[in-house]
Amino acid sequence: MHCGLLGRKLSHSYSPQIHKLLGDYTYELFEREPQMLKSFFEETECTGFNVTIPYKKDVLSFCDELTPTAQLLGSVNTIVKKEDGRRIGHNTDYYGFLSMLERSGLDVSDKKVLVLGSGGASVTVCAVLKSRGANTVVISRTGENNYSNLHRHCDAAVIVNTTPVGMYPNNGESPLSLAHFPKLEGVLDLIYNPARTKLLLDAQSRGLVAQCGLWMLVAQAKESAEFFTGKSIDESLIATIHDQLAAQMKNIVLIGMPGCGKSTIGLQLANALGREFIDADERIINEAGISIPEIFDRSGEEGFRSIETKVLSQLGKLSGAVIATGGGCVTKPENYELLHQNAVIYFIKRDIGSLPVDGRPLSASGDLQKMYAERLPLYEAFADARICNDKDICDAVNEILRLEKTV
Ligand code: NAP
Repeated sequence: MHCGLLGRKLSHSYSPQIHKLLGDYTYELFEREPQMLKSFFEETECTGFNVTIPYKKDVLSFCDELTPTAQLLGSVNTIVKKEDGRRIGHNTDYYGFLSMLERSGLDVSDKKVLVLGSGGASVTVCAVLKSRGANTVVISRTGENNYSNLHRHCDAAVIVNTTPVGMYPNNGESPLSLAHFPKLEGVLDLIYNPARTKLLLDAQSRGLVAQCGLWMLVAQAKESAEFFTGKSIDESLIATIHDQLAAQMKNIVLIGMPGCGKSTIGLQLANALGREFIDADERIINEAGISIPEIFDRSGEEGFRSIETKVLSQLGKLSGAVIATGGGCVTKPENYELLHQNAVIYFIKRDIGSLPVDGRPLSASGDLQKMYAERLPLYEAFADARICNDKDICDAVNEILRLEKTV
């Protein structure tokens, strides 16, 4: 069986990988311009295919029949060709978002839910929310309810982002401030790159439920695969594929005192996992065009830190890299979100007496004990996990590999 994905820009698509794990069929990407749609439908030999941005409405006219869900939403993301040649249009985004909502544990019944954006995904999200008894309000830049009168909705319990605001490469942008919503219980963001948009990071920092759209992406693919093959797929496969993708997409970031072994551990870790290794200090040297001691001589620590933050804002957007940071990156609070948006952060702990100081301007110039006492709470606040590097470096690497298998 031959299946695929029809869309305009597909180079970053995870669908081939997801479908490989879902069923026994080939899955090809079909990047087509709008004027090529007709010929695509005339020529394609696919028995089933998915449809993505910007064609979910355009393909309606190529379907011979729509399922009730596709008809209700007025958009199709899955087309299956029957033996008699008739094309049936489905919408599995509905199931995908329903599954994401259920996984979040949020109960939306009789509660106000703000849905940001009024595009195709917004229609799907609103239909699911209404089926669960929510009182939905669409916030649109140009609608009656917009970003200038959010005070009308300070009683909102849940916010769902269906806009592209905050999506790679515009990481760090947010459609609104959560400070307006004292009754908020959770935020769902359909974006999955980065794993934690600015909106989700804000929700997490307030102790709210925060979930990205990766689960929805996998769940809608699972239902599509069922339509392609005519066979039901166990729900548990959604979690298996989701966890595998999430692990592959996230960065592994190492923090800790200068000389604690971050670069050596990072390189070994990257080799063991087949990932790219990046030393943030090397990137800073490239960015500045001079050595780190020279940066300190010319611009002081403040100058160094501002180059470091610029470099981390680029590195934090990556996916699947192992990144060793400079020892003082934790001294700037804004570096936390830059690193955390897509990563698990390991604090590499090493006995203070074993730390080298040569070539490290701050370590060589001051009291290492004092520096450690100041930074320890910062490392702890940044870290998701702690790794001891007092014995063999291989032990530290293996411990991270062991933890990576369990996350
Ligand atoms: P769309 O039809 O283009 O709609 C996006 C809506 O967002 C627009 O209608 C617009 O609404 C709003 N918007 C666009 N740019 C904005 C900006 N700069 N500031 C504020 N609002 C803006 O796209 P879509 O198909 O609905 O997809 C929306 C998002 O959901 C995309 O990021 C997509 O990747 C994601 N998505 C994820 C999944 C998944 O499986 N996880 C599935 C479907 C979609 P207003 O004009 O009313 O403000």
